Amino acid sequence: MHRPKVLITRRWPAAVENHLSERYDVTLNESDVPLTASALRDAMLRYDALCPTVSDAIGADIIETPGATVRIIGNYGVGTNHIDIAAARRAGIVVTNTPDVLTDATADLAILLMLMATRRAGEGERELRAGKWTGWRPTHMVGQSIGGRVLGLVGFGRIGQATARRAKHAFGMSIAYYSRKRAAAEIERELDAQYFDSLDELVASCDVLSLHVPGGAETHHLINRDRLAAMKPTAVLVNTARGSVVEEAALAEALKARRIAAAGLDVYEHEPQVHPELLSLENVVLLPHLGSATVETRIAMGMRVAQNLDRFFAGQDLVDRVV
Ligand code: NAP
Repeated sequence: MHRPKVLITRRWPAAVENHLSERYDVTLNESDVPLTASALRDAMLRYDALCPTVSDAIGADIIETPGATVRIIGNYGVGTNHIDIAAARRAGIVVTNTPDVLTDATADLAILLMLMATRRAGEGERELRAGKWTGWRPTHMVGQSIGGRVLGLVGFGRIGQATARRAKHAFGMSIAYYSRKRAAAEIERELDAQYFDSLDELVASCDVLSLHVPGGAETHHLINRDRLAAMKPTAVLVNTARGSVVEEAALAEALKARRIAAAGLDVYEHEPQVHPELLSLENVVLLPHLGSATVETRIAMGMRVAQNLDRFFAGQDLVDRVV
């Protein structure tokens, strides 16, 4: 029987690569160098399934390759803003993602950034490694406590709610949120979460602002210069969503001028480039897009892609269908 031809665009955990290779005619990217647009267009003509990730820009120029044989784009990751979903819909190509399995790891990372930024952990480590630490003293590198403070979440889906749960139950924070629609009453009750129908009001009233909306045109620069200016001067911004959600140049200015206290970032507008101003600031923690980076999560994400391919090629209903 013809085994569907599958292209995996980056290295995946070995357990998943082996699992997929047993079931499909798989091409791996052993060098792990991102494919060029021309290689991706060529792949559209030679495979049944394309399995990209956030580092691959799958625009209309690729999806609408004349004579394309790819019928499913099985994305490794929950965010699909790097894929032109409208073009996929027009071309009749199915797109799937990997929700749920990366929720806890990403929420953990949002909390990590929140603590690192409020407790000045990056700054402290840099001082120590530079041999500049002169010993314990009551006034040395004091940060802020998060207990009792207000966590404002922008986007209140899987990861936003998982972050809220950790912040409330482990750290005693109060939960406020803005999202496209209001959450179910039982979730608001469980988290004692206050809904804001105005992002401007949420931004101005919280102590930590944590972003959990998808990337893409609708959320582009949602946190812009004006909203950064409206934040409390003691507030901290955490972004584990997408770099495009924040106006990065305005954030660098706000941090430099101490118009907000600090930020913790996992994602950037032009990855892997980071705004040069941010690199020189002490009051920002910079992680290289590690939200889902645990062994368990990265295997689970790959297995979720495998399940999506299995269901698609077996003609079954797709659980993770984006389009
Ligand atoms: P989700 O469950 O779909 O939650 C997204 C939330 O944002 C939903 O509440 C959604 O509202 C809301 N939203 C969507 N568009 C909006 C808009 N224009 N304005 C206001 N709210 C809006 O997704 P998730 O699983 O929590 O993932 C969220 C994002 O995190 C992903 O899209 C991805 O980009 C990012 N992420 C990053 C990492 C990392 O490595 N740093 C890892 C995983 C995910 P509705 O309920 O109305 O749709």
